[in-house]
Amino acid sequence: MERTEVDAVVVGAGFGGLYMLHKLRGLGLIVRVFEAGHDVGGTWYWNRYPGARCDVESMEYSFSFDEDLEQEWSWTERYATQPEILSYARHVADRFDLRRDISFSTRVTSATFGEANGTWLVTTDKGEEVRAQYCVMATGCLSTVNRPDIPGLDGFAGPVYQTGLWPHEGVDFTGKAVCVIGTGSSAIQSIPVIARQAAQLTVFQRTANYVAPARNQPMSEAYEEHFKANYKDLRRKQLQGYFGALPSGEPRMVPSMSVGDDEREAAYEEGWERGGLGLLGSFPDLLFDRDGNETLAEFVRGKIRATVKNPATAELLCPDDHPVGSKRMCIDTGYFETFNRDNVTLVGLKAEPIERISSEGVVTAKQAYPCDALVLATGFDAMTGTLAKIAITGRGGRTLKDEWADGPVAYLGLMVAGFPNLFLVTGPGSPSVLSNMLVSIEQHVDWIAGCIEALRERGAGVIEADPAAQEDWLEHGAAVAAPTVYPDGKSWYTGANIAGKPRTFMAYIGGVPGYRKICDAVTAGDYAGFAIDGAEAAPLPDFMAVLRTPQPAEAAA
Ligand code: FAD
Ligand code: NAP
Repeated sequence: MERTEVDAVVVGAGFGGLYMLHKLRGLGLIVRVFEAGHDVGGTWYWNRYPGARCDVESMEYSFSFDEDLEQEWSWTERYATQPEILSYARHVADRFDLRRDISFSTRVTSATFGEANGTWLVTTDKGEEVRAQYCVMATGCLSTVNRPDIPGLDGFAGPVYQTGLWPHEGVDFTGKAVCVIGTGSSAIQSIPVIARQAAQLTVFQRTANYVAPARNQPMSEAYEEHFKANYKDLRRKQLQGYFGALPSGEPRMVPSMSVGDDEREAAYEEGWERGGLGLLGSFPDLLFDRDGNETLAEFVRGKIRATVKNPATAELLCPDDHPVGSKRMCIDTGYFETFNRDNVTLVGLKAEPIERISSEGVVTAKQAYPCDALVLATGFDAMTGTLAKIAITGRGGRTLKDEWADGPVAYLGLMVAGFPNLFLVTGPGSPSVLSNMLVSIEQHVDWIAGCIEALRERGAGVIEADPAAQEDWLEHGAAVAAPTVYPDGKSWYTGANIAGKPRTFMAYIGGVPGYRKICDAVTAGDYAGFAIDGAEAAPLPDFMAVLRTPQPAEAAA
């Protein structure tokens, strides 16, 4: 078995892994990156289903760490397609000469902390062993697909496609009868495209979703020029946005129920016309005030009823069992209109659950739906699924799987107590999936690199999360989440989409600016809550007080 020694191993070559490699190299570290895919790009390498594109505007869903990169790259649409985002990831890899330290088509199978020498021993499916002082898991929050446990699935005679593992050569559905299971973001993007190609499309919906129009459009030269001329300022404003994105339009800064019905409706109409996820930000309290939230829910239902011609289909498409935003809101291009097509059928699984897959198609409690091809748009074992597949062993032989048996625990979403020098990029307990992820990835990578630099400057070997600090962080995260609508939905945010997965709200909903302030306070407090080389951890800041500190006037301007 080949064994090498490096300063740091990074697992994953999506945006997180790429930037981590760049930053650590900049500190003079010898770094080795392992990536299971054949190329860089992560999400955008794997999710090649028809219609895949970002739902954060392209100009914002991009790296900010290099001004030249910002200026030289051009996005062609308001929301970039998967091929374009993948090209961007490849461009970043080439531009910063990152590939030479990445081993592709190599899956990390285990990582074991050696208490005697304070290093990690990382093994791969290629039989390689690498020893490193630091190990960074940039393995992604949505990188392990959820293959549903439906009886007979393996016996289906035709091809079965999974949105998150789409064939690189593409799929031609021309003349085919296709069944799509799932109606989350991936399905909502792919269904209109598949419907235009297939002879017949049957969509199996378990939970109807709130969907706003994307209003995608070609990038206007003037818009791009404005952005590029003001990138610094706009990025700064982005960081002040709760979700790490610029505000959409002019949000009313008053509670949703404090205004009259007409004004509220007008605000929603404006959001609907602008397109995108900004609809949810029409008022600042929509994720907290359930009555206000219900007014937005009813507004969206009204739009569905006005779009879908068959009243029974329209009712089936109207979400009625969760608040808007408690499951990830989706944006679409012609999703509801697709159900007006003659070749598209919607099946509501609450009335007729899927019983099995036969060799010929999907069989529900009511009838059989034969098809030539099956598309599983059934999502991911989010946040924890990918790390659970790696045998990660920390102090005392404790595995991460054991530590997370009742749900993931991590201090700031960055480190787990008992796993020294193991860093998580956008780990559970950080804003991660509740934000523009490029913003959150950059912040975590910068923090990790800063931490490693500080350790080296003081000649320290090992940093680890203090168990009490981790506990406090979890309590704080739960306290911040409790008044919101997030815990109300049976979503992948809470693990509810995977049978047997513990139910906990896995992201941090204090917002990007508040979370950054807390991380900054921790760093300024001599890495408060982290033990360095066995010394007692510095005392924690009051998380809630830091979170509620008003933005500095200058930053909020
Ligand atoms: P990933 O891109 O998931 O990369 C992780 C990499 O780690 C993968 O390539 C994987 O192969 C590799 N890996 C995992 N385990 C191992 C192992 N054991 N050994 C070796 N390699 C391993 N976010 C937004 O903010 N805006 C959007 O519009 C948006 N759209 C999305 C659309 C889709 C279809 C999906 C699935 C997600 C979307 N996201 C979006 C979230 C998206 O995941 C992030 O924006 C971002 O791309 C994540 O980058 P990452 O590097 O953290 O993780
Ligand atoms: P998802 O949101 O989890 O949706 C999965 C769908 O499959 C849901 O409708 C789910 O129903 C259904 N499902 C799962 N198991 C099923 C079963 N056994 N039988 C029937 N239906 C089943 O997954 P996703 O659509 O891949 O999206 C995941 C996340 O990735 C998004 O929330 C978003 O963060 C990101 N994403 C973003 C974009 C974008 O627009 N940029 C596109 C795709 C993905 P239930 O709801 O009832 O569980």
